[in-house]
Amino acid sequence: MIAILKPGVSTKQIEDLCTYIEAQHIQTHVIVGTDQTIVGLIGDTTGIDMRHLETMEQVESVQRVSEPFKKVNRKFHPDDTVIRVGDVTIGGPNSFVVMAGPCSVESEEQCMTIAAAAKAAGATIFRGGAFKPRTSPYAFQGMGKEGLDILSKVKREFGMPIISEIMDARDLDLFDDVDILQVGARNMQNFTLLKELGRTNKPILLKRGLAATIDELLMSAEYIMAGGNDQVMLCERGIRSYDKRTRNVFDVCAIPVLRELTHLPIIADPSHATGYTRFVTPVALAATAAGCDGLEVEVHHDPAHAASDGAQALLPDQFQDMMDRVALIRHAL
Ligand code: PEP
Ligand code: MN
Repeated sequence: MIAILKPGVSTKQIEDLCTYIEAQHIQTHVIVGTDQTIVGLIGDTTGIDMRHLETMEQVESVQRVSEPFKKVNRKFHPDDTVIRVGDVTIGGPNSFVVMAGPCSVESEEQCMTIAAAAKAAGATIFRGGAFKPRTSPYAFQGMGKEGLDILSKVKREFGMPIISEIMDARDLDLFDDVDILQVGARNMQNFTLLKELGRTNKPILLKRGLAATIDELLMSAEYIMAGGNDQVMLCERGIRSYDKRTRNVFDVCAIPVLRELTHLPIIADPSHATGYTRFVTPVALAATAAGCDGLEVEVHHDPAHAASDGAQALLPDQFQDMMDRVALIRHAL
């Protein structure tokens, strides 16, 4: 349930309303937007008398929010969430972020080479996996802490914020210098991890699970927000289907659907969606045209020798070409 407040209500009036609601064992969440202030009621609101609430002096109207996700709901928070990472803005009407880098951190030289190319082409955030969720326990598992140290060096050298995947909340201390924590598709419903991340104040990129519905993605984001962390972005990275021609099926529909349902920024990952270099740029363009807030793309200068996901990596020139064409789509929009 949400209570939309009258324009110009005082802080005291908002506090009084929250006290009244909380006395009925319901949590409140106040959202001060540019045009409206909204109080969200979280918990079992079946006992709340909507009509009484509507008659209160501070309240303009009351609506039931039928979806099970509250904090991520656009009804709850009509303005787009904007996340700031260093100088980079993610979300909102005028921003578009590109996060680029290798699937796995392999060496300092590899990351420096790729970061220079990614930055030159216009990427503003550097990605690289140090803890890798691999299907086989015998495959390269990532460089771990050493990999994160290399990412920190890239951050200093190029002034680019960094994003890396966290698989285990016990590693949180190691991620102090990482600007955005990525939750991989395989961990989208690792609720223990999500709850721990909810207690941090770091931006989180939450990737859609291999077979997760849009509502399940939103409920996982709700776990993080319920813990108090509002800085969540969602990532469409393709879902599993029966076709073997691409690694996954990119759900372009998810972008406008999420835009309608939630205020959180939406990032598209055309690399894991397609699995093949030659399909990455067309899907990046489709995602941009569908209105995503940014892209996460794998780039490698020597894909043939990449430790993971070489088959889907863009070479620096191919990445530059993608960036040029994404700019054309954005201009056309
Ligand atoms: C990745 O970004 O390298 C990754 C493993 O992605 P996903 O979790 O989407 O498979
Ligand atoms: Mn990868």
